[in-house]
Amino acid sequence: MLKINESYLKLQASYLFSDIAGRVKKFEDANPDKDVIKLGIGDVTRALPAACVSAFHKAVDEMATDTGFRGYGPEQGYPFLREAIAKNDFQARGAEVNADEIFVSDGAKCDSGNIQELFSLDSKIAIPDPVYPVYIDTNVMAGRTGNFEDGRFQGIVYLDSTRENNYVPDLPTEAVDLIYLCFPNNPTGSTASKEQLKTWVDYARDNKAVILFDAAYEAFIRDDALPHSIYEIEGAREVAIEFRSFSKNGGFTGTRCAYTVVPKECMAWDTAGNKQPIHSLWNRRHCTKFNGVSYPVQRAAEAIYSDAGKGQVQELVSSYLENADLIAGAVKELGFDYAGAANSPYVWIWGDRDSWDFFDMLLNEAGVVCTPGAGFGKCGQGYIRLSAFNSRENVIQAMERIKTALA
Ligand code: PLP
Repeated sequence: MLKINESYLKLQASYLFSDIAGRVKKFEDANPDKDVIKLGIGDVTRALPAACVSAFHKAVDEMATDTGFRGYGPEQGYPFLREAIAKNDFQARGAEVNADEIFVSDGAKCDSGNIQELFSLDSKIAIPDPVYPVYIDTNVMAGRTGNFEDGRFQGIVYLDSTRENNYVPDLPTEAVDLIYLCFPNNPTGSTASKEQLKTWVDYARDNKAVILFDAAYEAFIRDDALPHSIYEIEGAREVAIEFRSFSKNGGFTGTRCAYTVVPKECMAWDTAGNKQPIHSLWNRRHCTKFNGVSYPVQRAAEAIYSDAGKGQVQELVSSYLENADLIAGAVKELGFDYAGAANSPYVWIWGDRDSWDFFDMLLNEAGVVCTPGAGFGKCGQGYIRLSAFNSRENVIQAMERIKTALA
């Protein structure tokens, strides 16, 4: 008799987005004349940069000739893309990352979810709250947690991110082995300074732990003092893996391309106490379970690093940041406490009331959809998240409606 992996039964069905969709549908059915503006989603809305589109077309044309055709590519990614990434995203910022430490993939979601496979099931995991749910659910699937009780999985060390700590969690009071961090953060929009990241790197070094650093929103950082990569922190190469994505800078959410950096110095230990390089284990996993990203998509991603591509991505990200600024301005005018916006596409608003009550009020009174913070974890209760991924016109209109409704 075939038995299932019962850890899957522990997963909490993600009702968040279906609940939102259900409430929006009910509102639309009752108010057919009112249009609803959606500032809930984390998906980009603007077209791919022109430089990417033309590189994409060119690569498809190459594939249409016998001489230009490519079959299976290197699973880790083509050297042209790995080299462009190493040079532009790291070396240009003084961070030591080499092309052969970069693994091109189809998503930071997949990589940040799959990486835990490399580590033993009894590893102690620390995960922020509120959080991008993938980190928790993939550890639940792997069987690394107990049951879900009182809004949290037993066995996980939750790192509270609250107004009190400015949404940068404190170090855990017990020793942990694997630490998930995400800056600029989804959902709080918060960022971490070099000094703050340094305390985490030092903790990881002292505890033989590894940091899984999700920098999917790195392109939104405009404050020159903030680190874009954890490898800007001394000692991080030994204790950190970084996830990056072309989803939010180049608008590749539907095109699919991302990458993970695993420095060669980054180690975990076997039961005999020997150091094992994580790089070679991830390489093994990647080659066994992943076929690589298609050639045209990698050419399109490479174009992000061309002069034209850089300018177009800058313009794209700036337009979302200007939306975030408009949202933050209106929220401030209304007297709400908020985080994010400055270096992030998200505005995290303290409503001082139940997240779903706040959601219903914005929907019913203003026709605007947000994401209730409680959907991201226990510490998200009382908050909502507004996303800047929409047209300028919609953002302006949404904020006018909210101001009128709440005035
Ligand atoms: N990491 C975070 C924190 C995210 O919010 C998201 C998407 O919303 C991702 C990763 C997913 O990135 P990708 O599209 O590359 O899978």
